[in-house]
This record gives sequence, C-alpha cells and structure tokens, in this order.
Amino acid sequence: MTMTTYKNTPGIARTIFGRGSFAQLGQVVDDRRTDGQSFAVFLVDNYFADQPLRARVPAQGRDLVLLVDVDPHEPTTQQVDQLRDEILRQGLPVAVVGIGGGSIMDIAKAVALMLTNEGPSKNYQGLNLIKKPGVYHIGVPTISGTGAEVSMTAVLTGPEKKLGLKCQWTVFDQVVLDSELTASVPRNQWFYTGMDTYIHCVESMTGQFKNAYSEAYGYKAMDLCREVYLGPQHGQNPDNDEKLMVASLFGGLSLTYSEVGVCHALSYGLSYVFGTRHCLANCIIFEQLEDYYPEGVREFREMVKKNDIFIPQNLAKDWTDAQIEKMIDVTWALTHMWNHAIGYDWQQKITRADIRRLYERM
Ligand code: NAD
Ligand code: ZN
Repeated sequence: MTMTTYKNTPGIARTIFGRGSFAQLGQVVDDRRTDGQSFAVFLVDNYFADQPLRARVPAQGRDLVLLVDVDPHEPTTQQVDQLRDEILRQGLPVAVVGIGGGSIMDIAKAVALMLTNEGPSKNYQGLNLIKKPGVYHIGVPTISGTGAEVSMTAVLTGPEKKLGLKCQWTVFDQVVLDSELTASVPRNQWFYTGMDTYIHCVESMTGQFKNAYSEAYGYKAMDLCREVYLGPQHGQNPDNDEKLMVASLFGGLSLTYSEVGVCHALSYGLSYVFGTRHCLANCIIFEQLEDYYPEGVREFREMVKKNDIFIPQNLAKDWTDAQIEKMIDVTWALTHMWNHAIGYDWQQKITRADIRRLYERM
C-alpha cells in the first residue's frame, strides 16, 4: 500500500485586516526594532512616489525607503540581487516591508530571503533550495488578486527561467490588508489582477489535487468575485475593494492546497517570451480555454462584458515560430500543473501540437 504524502504548508503568522489599518504598520515595525542602530527597509511601488501614501510610510532613523519601479517588466532575479546588495551596504535590517501589488510583494519576499542566503537568487529558483530563514517580512498589498500576500512563492524571472523561490520561509510573517490602498488601481488592472484570483479558483478546483480545503476557500473566493464583477453593486467601490481583498487571500489559500492548471502553465510561457504581465497574460489565455474550463470561461466572458474591459486579441499573427516553440518549452516543463489539470498521464493526453493550437488562437 502506498502512503499519500500530504503538503505541510506554512501560513501567514499574523494578519491585520480592515479599512485604514495601514495606520498600524508603524507599530508592527516598531515591535521588531532592537536598538538605535537597527533599521527596517520599506520597498514601495514607485507608483506611490508622488501619492499621499508615500508620506504615510512609517520610516524613521536609519530606515531605508526604496522606491521600486515594477514597470515595464515582472520582477527579475537581477533586480532582487541589486536590492539585496544595496541594503547589505548598510547592514542586515530587522524587517523588510513590501508595499505594492504582486510584483512588489514578490520582490519583498525574495529580498528578505536573499539577505541571508549567499549568491545570486537565480540559484534558488525552485522548491526548497533556500538554505536559511530570511529576514522578518511584512506584506502590504495595494492591488487585490494575485494572492502573493499569502502564497509561499516569490515568482522571479531569471536568465534561464521564470520560477519562484518557494520554501517554508517565503510566506510573509505579517500582512496588513487595508483595502483603501487599492482604491486607485486603474480599471483594466483592477479587472486583470482580480481575475487572477478567479482563475486560481477555477483551476485549483478543476483537477486531481482538489480537495475539501481548497474548495471551501475557492467557492467563497469565486462568490466574492461574482459580487464584485457581476453583482448589483458591481464595479470599483469601497465595499467591493474589501471583498476583492478577501477573495485574493482565499483564492491564494485555495491554490496553495491544490494547484493551478492549464491557464497558468500557458501564462508562464507567454510572460517568459513576451514579458506580458501575469494577470493580463492569464486573461488573454483563459478566454481560449473553454475546452478545459467551459463554465469558468463562460462566466469570465460575462464579467469582461459587464465591466467593459479590453482584452487584447489576435496577437499570435505576429509571433514567430521560434517564439511559439519557446513558449511551448516553458509551458511543457510545468509538470506539476499538467499533472493536476490533466492527470499523471498528461503526456499521453496532450501534445506540443495541442499547446501550439491554443497559443495560435490568441
Ligand atoms: P503589479 O504589482 O505588477 O502592478 C501593476 C501596476 O499597478 C504597476 O504599474 C504598479 O505600479 C501599479 N499599482 C500598484 N498598486 C497600485 C495602486 N494602488 N494604484 C494604482 N496603481 C497601482 O500587479 P499585480 O497584478 O498585483 O502583480 C503581478 C505580479 O504578481 C507578477 O509579477 C506575478 O508574477 C506576481 N504573482 C505572484 C504570485 C505569487 O503567488 N507570488 C501569484 C500571482 C502573481
Ligand atoms: Zn496567478
């Protein structure tokens, strides 16, 4: 008889949730301070450089506030290494705080780990390659949807692959979930990133690794998405911002105890080759996946229509054969996603030509 090995997943140690809770960040950071020489690092999305939030960042003394540009590309290993080196010139901080969307949260998680693990971060892209616990890290999301605030991975694009630093120490020690911070997210971005959560749920609940735990969080997160994108009060407003923030968290929990599927597998290929941002890439791809997720795709289209959102089409006509082949290579390597979505015998059920056909529809 074979014994099943169940995942043993770490969670966020502490959570502050509520509108206006950003005001408590200073206290949380102060609790980490040891003496007058200790300092914290705030990695803040450059979008906030000239926004009122910049002045509310509770930095003091020797603290570093580093404004990080997350446009136009997704976080890279090189970017993380540079930030790490810059911080270490001052010493080892007592806390790393990431204030921003999924990109900044992943950068903060990765920087916290790389402050204590030597060498380039590309060496640690994968599962359980990190050797030592990182610096105490705090996540403050300013966009809802990726679930990066709760996930145990920090997704980075490296010279050879797009893959997360995934280990027991990646997950945040503390998060501050203040939905007021998301009010300024532009409409298309609000939709694309919110849909990441919706797609996380569809995928985590469609495949062999689904279970009662992943479904409980998944169903609730999907219901919240329906309220936000299809309900009578749909659209961007304070109540929906709060609901979407919870949906993002629950969607992340749903996939943590299951797995993502076909959309994310293809999405990694698209992002790797063209640098398309994760959530937009998912939207471009998900539209074409009715063979795999018929119900989810139908509802997704309804949400696109109701919110009058632009999803780019007819992209494949400009792609070269070599680019498509590279995307298929990246996608094909994501065995764990295919195992979940299609089964352990997925290589008998789907071919590279099938994946090509999906890309060519985009
Ligand atoms: P993002 O962090 O890439 O930001 C998108 C844009 O929104 C940027 O221009 C940013 O400056 C801007 N922005 C951020 N907050 C804003 C605000 N409050 N108001 C106005 N503009 C704001 O967006 P995202 O979709 O949250 O994150 C995508 C990233 O998350 C990708 O790099 C992806 O790989 C990663 N991701 C990680 C996980 C994980 O589990 N770790 C899961 C999914 C996605
Ligand atoms: Zn995702």
